[in-house]
Amino acid sequence: MRLNLVFHNIVLKEEEINGDYSLTLDYFEELRENIETLLKSGLTRFKDIRYYFDDGYKSFKELVFPVMKDKTNLCCLAPIANLLGSENYLNEGDIDFLSKSGIKIASHGFSHAALAVYKANTLQKTPKGGEYKDSPSGKNEILSEKEVLFQFLESKRLLENITKSEIDEFVFPYGLYNKEVIDLNNRKGIYEYLSTCDEHLDSGSAIRPRILVSNKRPIKETVEFIRSLE
Ligand SMILES: [Zn+2]
Repeated sequence: MRLNLVFHNIVLKEEEINGDYSLTLDYFEELRENIETLLKSGLTRFKDIRYYFDDGYKSFKELVFPVMKDKTNLCCLAPIANLLGSENYLNEGDIDFLSKSGIKIASHGFSHAALAVYKANTLQKTPKGGEYKDSPSGKNEILSEKEVLFQFLESKRLLENITKSEIDEFVFPYGLYNKEVIDLNNRKGIYEYLSTCDEHLDSGSAIRPRILVSNKRPIKETVEFIRSLE
């Protein structure tokens, strides 16, 4: 069993925190220490860890990489393709460097459009056909099958061009997906792993669960929650 943890922007000071998912480097380091202790204690079902960093923030290279450079094999970076090179985000050269340093690169869509959405608390089906084109970032629009394909394929193409290696994992923006999207990927054989924000431990399945870390939860509670995972 593996624990997949999801992080976003890592900042130096509390006042730089923006939204529920950015964390200070101190929080990140303290959580990591606590989890390593938990692993050694044997009081948990997971045997290893993978650290995900979603969206491709520049802070990954500046703050996280220096503390994780001996553990690059435990890190997976999932940048948003069309934000590469914009302010506060990693650029193509960074992705190439990080990939060569042993960090796994996963696709996170071209524009960070949700591949499936809820309307009135109901998960919507993906309409067949449509036009092969980009969609706006966000989780308001229902993407057609071809628009989903655009997000799958164009982000993969761009990242494979940069890293010169195969990108075999897609991280769902907002953790959102439906049956049609999974079937489409499997039918076309695009990605081996599809990663979610479904909060349980990873037994090696192709639909990969991941646990989102939020600054709303104190470290002690986060560790207790992780310990309780099945
Ligand atoms: Zn994201």
